[in-house]
Amino acid sequence: MAVPKRKVSPSRRGMRRAHEGLKAEAHSECANCGELKRPHHVCSACGHYDGREVVPAGNALKSAIRT
Ligand SMILES: [Zn+2]
Repeated sequence: MAVPKRKVSPSRRGMRRAHEGLKAEAHSECANCGELKRPHHVCSACGHYDGREVVPAGNALKSAIRT
């Protein structure tokens, strides 16, 4: 429900925003090259996933993988 801005005290506003902090992005080491990568994602450095190369490494890798 909408509440007028000046009816919310700075303390209450701060309590609401206490949960809005950014969390550190999850990461893990690539088993193939050791580069940090997102869990359950193809490695953006070497194109490996689950112990095999699924995307050929090189310049094409950058466009094939969303980071
Ligand atoms: Zn890798």
